[in-house]
Order: sequence, then C-alpha cells, then structure tokens
Amino acid sequence: MSQKIHLIGLSKVELAEKLKEVGFEAFRAKQVWHWLYSKGATEFSQMTTIAKDKHQLLDDHFTIARPRLEKDLVSFDGTRKWLVEYPDKNKVEMVFIPETDRGALCVSSQVGCTLACTFCHTGTMPLVRNLTAGDIVSQVLIARDGLGEWNKKREDCLFTNIVLMGMGEPLYNYENVKKALTIVMDGEGIAISKRRITLSTSGVVPVIEQVGHELGVNLAISLHAVRDDLRNELVPLNKKYPIAQLLEACRNYPAANNARRITFEYVMLKGVNDSDADARELVRLLADIHAKVNLIPWNSWPGAKYETSSRNRINAFAQIVNDAGYSSPVRATRGEDIMAACGQLKSDSEREKGKKIYLQDNPN
Ligand code: SAH
Ligand code: SF4
Repeated sequence: MSQKIHLIGLSKVELAEKLKEVGFEAFRAKQVWHWLYSKGATEFSQMTTIAKDKHQLLDDHFTIARPRLEKDLVSFDGTRKWLVEYPDKNKVEMVFIPETDRGALCVSSQVGCTLACTFCHTGTMPLVRNLTAGDIVSQVLIARDGLGEWNKKREDCLFTNIVLMGMGEPLYNYENVKKALTIVMDGEGIAISKRRITLSTSGVVPVIEQVGHELGVNLAISLHAVRDDLRNELVPLNKKYPIAQLLEACRNYPAANNARRITFEYVMLKGVNDSDADARELVRLLADIHAKVNLIPWNSWPGAKYETSSRNRINAFAQIVNDAGYSSPVRATRGEDIMAACGQLKSDSEREKGKKIYLQDNPN
C-alpha cells in the first residue's frame, strides 16, 4: 500500500500541519480544504489556485483518491446504492434516498457490527473494523460525485441530509464519527448543518449526552420493543443499557426540544412487538420526552426468522401513537429491489480468520 498520507478525513488543524511539514504556507491549507470539500477535487492538478509545480510536491507526499466503487445500483424508485471498496479491500454499502426536493444519504460507520440485533442483516456480520473519519467522509464525497452536485447551486441539490443509519453502530466508533461529522458540517466545505444530520443508535447510553454537546445533531433511537425481556432479545445491547436508562438519556439529550424531537425507530415485527398493548406502552414510556415515532415495516433478508406486520396492524398501531399526540409516520420502504432498504445492508467483507480485533463492549 502507498505510504502517502491521505488528506481526506484530516481535521483543519491536521491538514495545515501536514502541509506545513512539506513547506506550504498556512493559507494553502485553506485553499486545499476548499478544493477538497467545496469543489470535490479528486486530483491535485484540479487545484488551479495552486501553482502547477506545487501539484507535484503535493502528489509526492499526499493522496486524495476516492475509494473504489464496486457497484452503483439504481432502484426503480430512484434509490441509489453504492458498494464502496476501501484500499484494504473492506467494503461497505451506502444508500441515497431521493425525495422531490431533498434527499438523504444513509452512511455506514463500521464494516459489520458487534451488536447482532436479531432482525438486522448487518447484525449477522462480525465487526470487521471501524471506519476511519476519512472512510466516512469519503462516502459523502462519493455521493456528491455520483449525483453530480459539486458545482450546482444549493437550492438545486437533492443531497441535503445525512442519516447515520447504514452498517454499524456509530456510537461504538464515536471518535471517528465525530471527526467525520465535524468535517461534513464545516461551513467552508460540505456544509451540511447539524439540523440535517441524524445519528441513529441502538442505545449506547454513556455516549448519547456527549453527542448532544459535541455535535448537536438529531438523534434517532432504535427502540423496537417496550419491555426489557423482548428488547434484550431483539437488541441485545439492552442487557447492558436497559430501556429505563436509555429513556433517561433521551430525556436529558441536550440537542432536543419541541422543535427538534428525538425519533424513536420501531421496526414492525408480526406477532412480536406490534400489538395495541405495545403501542399504548410506547406512548406511556415517551410521556415526558420530546419524541416522535417512526414505524418501520420490517424488511426481509435471506435466512431471517421474522415477518413484517400487516398494513392494517401497522396502521392501527400508528393510530394509537398518533392519538396520543406523537407524530408516527410509517417509513416508506425504498430500494428493496436492490437490497438497499433499512437493515438489508451487508457487505461480503469478512474478518480474517484468527485475527484479533478490538470489540467494544460486546454484550453477548
Ligand atoms: N446501528 C444503528 C444504526 C444502523 S441501523 C442502529 O441500530 O440504530 C439503522 C436502522 O435500521 C435501525 O433503526 C435499525 O434497527 C433498522 N433496521 C435494522 N434492520 C432492519 C430491517 N431488517 N428492517 C427494517 N429496519 C431495520
Ligand atoms: Fe448493528 Fe444497528 Fe444492525 Fe443492531 S440494528 S445489528 S446496532 S447495525
């Protein structure tokens, strides 16, 4: 592998330091940042505000290459899925979900996941590795490339939002996620605001407050069950951080208020968690939280043991939650034909046999 330092994913300060080490003045770092994150440069030769002879110097020491795209699929409904291969051959999937005047990129934070939620396809993979900040930022860059949105006016861009709902548990890779989002939110670059970013977690309680203070992004909680016995089974992390603790962290989440509610994601599993009694208990649990509910029809994948609830059941459940004053839209399933729907992502990266990896807090 190349010894060149990858510039994507360095903080502004780190970028300035690296450039200084090879003789560039401080203002050059600003220019390079601009080319990388406002213009989407993929080669130094595109950086026309920097003299040609300096391009070679940059190229001798650094790289800004994108990871390889192994697949680029488009669903009949316009949803797009990219399979990204990093230089170490590990792969992740990312999905872009367009709507009429906006669109969200669903970003992955890990290759695989330690958490093994029983209804989730990614959960059947072991954790292969955490993504670096550069790996995560690269997903955003690839989406802008693919959508052709680097030089468009902001109001003409469809890629407006980011959801951390792809592969992996973002709060088990928090430092890299934080660094990546700080780059993505920077006003002199990609400039997607914290109000347009949603981080979904299965409930890593001790990190939730930090996210609110340090990033201030929208929070989504993968709740999926209203009783600990059932949640222990569906989301095994619940054994470590049970519902009461999780909801307490939500009550105290610094970046939530009436206008910016926490989304509670609830996957609808036939005969498992979808009764009227479950809906009433959900409403009771959310009583003093700035909450909204997102009901997700469960998406199937090969070998899964669940069925999705019927449309009537989902509607009846939604009605109870709605009548209690919580918005409870049913999430439209998008990109199912290309296996891009929630919880269907799984790459074929496998952990090298016998290789030791650092597993954070695996509750199993
Ligand atoms: N690890 C984080 C983020 C990735 S999962 C988390 O668990 O929140 C993103 C969302 O997809 C979560 O709410 C997850 O519970 C949901 N999900 C997983 N598998 C699913 C499936 N098969 N059908 C529908 N939603 C699923
Ligand atoms: Fe991991 Fe989230 Fe899937 Fe659970 S739902 S296995 S935490 S990716």
